[in-house]
Amino acid sequence: MITLKTVQETREITESWIKQGLKIGFVPTMGCLHDGHVSLIKRARSENDKVVVSIFVNPIQFGPNEDFERYPRDLGRDCLICEKTEADLVFAPSVDEMFPCHNLAFVDIKELGDYLCGAKRPGHFRGVCTIVSKFFNIIRPDRAYFGEKDFQQLAIIQQMTLGLSFSTQIVACPTVRESDGLALSSRNSYLSDVERRAARVIPKSLDLARNALAGGERDATTLKNIIIQKVATEPLAMVDYIEVVDATLLKPIPRIDRPAIVAVAVFIGETRLIDHFLIEEGF
Ligand code: AMP
Repeated sequence: MITLKTVQETREITESWIKQGLKIGFVPTMGCLHDGHVSLIKRARSENDKVVVSIFVNPIQFGPNEDFERYPRDLGRDCLICEKTEADLVFAPSVDEMFPCHNLAFVDIKELGDYLCGAKRPGHFRGVCTIVSKFFNIIRPDRAYFGEKDFQQLAIIQQMTLGLSFSTQIVACPTVRESDGLALSSRNSYLSDVERRAARVIPKSLDLARNALAGGERDATTLKNIIIQKVATEPLAMVDYIEVVDATLLKPIPRIDRPAIVAVAVFIGETRLIDHFLIEEGF
């Protein structure tokens, strides 16, 4: 496995692979890799000749009061995981390498970013779209792998790829969870033991809403209240948002009468975690 830090070297090697007719799978990450990332890398490994993993904590997708500075970084450990998962290339540029001067061009998308995390984190998805576009231009992957865990990001990247005619195919990968249901996230490493136990309230509250749905409940406010009440039983948890949205447009809906997503963002102490479930049928 090769580890590169410059755009030029990365471009040269991926270009040589393309010339040889090799298919490139790409997994963009911010590092602090866990089994969720590993599932994406393994999927890329199984579907492509070459696998590139980027490890880059992207400053332009963090808000001024967010956790850019303290975001966990451990390149040595991440490279070992990538090597074990049989990636071919880790691209781990510095911030100066990716943004050598004040960035002059940004990529943004319409509409899908208006709600949920887009509403709570202004500029976040513009930062995501810009960095993913830059990586696509440098690496020119045939396929890029994104987790369903960040479903709004996935939908926005799919829309961006279509809207800007990128030839990269976007592959959606299922959410990997701990045995108690908590979705794996690099930010889980911020949690103390007490907070980690408290975080169980997130999947549990979603389970309650899922059960109510199975029992015939279709009213979005009722479902949201079920989640709010469960989260309120945990003193360390505070709701950032709970929404029931149309699964395609990501706009809030009053009733589940079409494919929908029940999505939450919850603070456990200082740590903001997101989760959701998809309702595809039965309305
Ligand atoms: P991040 O490093 O958090 O930017 O995530 C990099 C990629 O891994 C994104 O496409 C995420 O959606 C995906 N990812 C993060 N957590 C999980 C998880 N628990 N299961 C599956 N994919 C994940």
